[in-house]
Amino acid sequence: MPPSEQKARVHFHSLGCPKNQLDTEVMLGALALDGYAIAEELEDADVAIVNTCSFIESAREESIQAILDVADLRDSGRLRALVVTGCLPQRYGDELARELPEVDAFVGTGRYPEVPGILEDVFAGRSRGIYVDAGRTHLYDHTSPRILIGGGHSAYVKTSEGCDRVCTFCAIPGIRGRFQSRTLESLVAECRDLARAGVKEVNLVAQDQTSWGKDLPGRPRLHSLLRGLDDVDGLAWIRLLYLYPTAVSDELIETLAAARRVLPYVDVPLQHASDGVLKAMRRGVTAERQWRLVERLRAGIPDLTLRTTFIVGFPGETDADFEALLDFARAARFDRVGVFRYSDEEGTAAQTLGRKVPRELARERHRTLLEVQRQIMAEKQEALVGSEVELLVEHRHMHGVAGRTASQAPEIDGGVFAKGSAEPGELVRARVLAVRDGVDLEAEVV
Ligand code: SF4
Repeated sequence: MPPSEQKARVHFHSLGCPKNQLDTEVMLGALALDGYAIAEELEDADVAIVNTCSFIESAREESIQAILDVADLRDSGRLRALVVTGCLPQRYGDELARELPEVDAFVGTGRYPEVPGILEDVFAGRSRGIYVDAGRTHLYDHTSPRILIGGGHSAYVKTSEGCDRVCTFCAIPGIRGRFQSRTLESLVAECRDLARAGVKEVNLVAQDQTSWGKDLPGRPRLHSLLRGLDDVDGLAWIRLLYLYPTAVSDELIETLAAARRVLPYVDVPLQHASDGVLKAMRRGVTAERQWRLVERLRAGIPDLTLRTTFIVGFPGETDADFEALLDFARAARFDRVGVFRYSDEEGTAAQTLGRKVPRELARERHRTLLEVQRQIMAEKQEALVGSEVELLVEHRHMHGVAGRTASQAPEIDGGVFAKGSAEPGELVRARVLAVRDGVDLEAEVV
């Protein structure tokens, strides 16, 4: 029987952000519905699919390496097909096709549901090689089949796709296209289905969360979506990621403060804290306004966990700009901070800016800011020792369980290792005993 009929075993290597993981889960769902088997390990697979990221230079390098790692297997005939999906082919499809002849098909962000059919093309020897529509990204909905990666207790849910903003460093609008929201009904239906399937925690993702609804009839606002999701029985935690600083309304703050399931967790990427750099980034905000936002959030939301991300080494960033950023980070004492080093992105306005910061200096600023934040975070984590926290158990291990508190988003905020026993997916109380490496917590189930 040809592989297309017997349905090959497909292994996914998913890189990049949670939004990419979700796209992988939707492709897995489409493949499984079409009869393909999913192989956990590459060794057991007939087909490898690498879902790539092209967010910044380091992400692109990681994606290319992941493709090269399996290209030999395809070359030697050990794999029947190698497919590359996601942001990298969306951006560089033609170039990649020239450089990587081992790859059977490059699939852009708008063609995810077609992956089963594209595999059929590959097996039948009629692959077109590149399947990319410029400026278009597929947005799934509650009817899309999907297979969750991980333990099944936590899931990402995408509220929208694309971005209409004009941040000068960012290539996302060019890659993922114009902003498009999912409807409230579809999001509530998906969250209900996830809760019925045993999911306890939903993490809402988007490129620009705060614009949700602007393209829907009646232009509903994000807080009304959160109120709708807050009523979904069965879910314990709903976490909102990626807020745009100028669009955090009082209603949103009030909703976060009053919600039962939506967590008091705010992730608001500020990117910088010097007026000159913010202006060059075209963020539409001043440092003073960002400071007021931090104050409004802290005053309005009890037990707030406040996360942000910063970019260092943006073109023209002077020592004084960087000092302003450090002062801001020291004063604001964020609970979590992600730090990126600027890299030139093709097609962005920042790429054309002069006064580039030398790589070594950008590296040093990166290290300095991380160190400032490391100390702040270690102090904050130390203050938790002796207190009781709620823990979502994710795995059992030899000496107890591993999980996360409500203030720890998956993959980015560390975790908790607790003595005692509990089932994955259970919410338990745990007493914090110690801090590990300034980030993770050691605890015991009580
Ligand atoms: S809001 Fe985010 S995704 Fe949109 S352009 Fe700015 S950085 Fe990029």
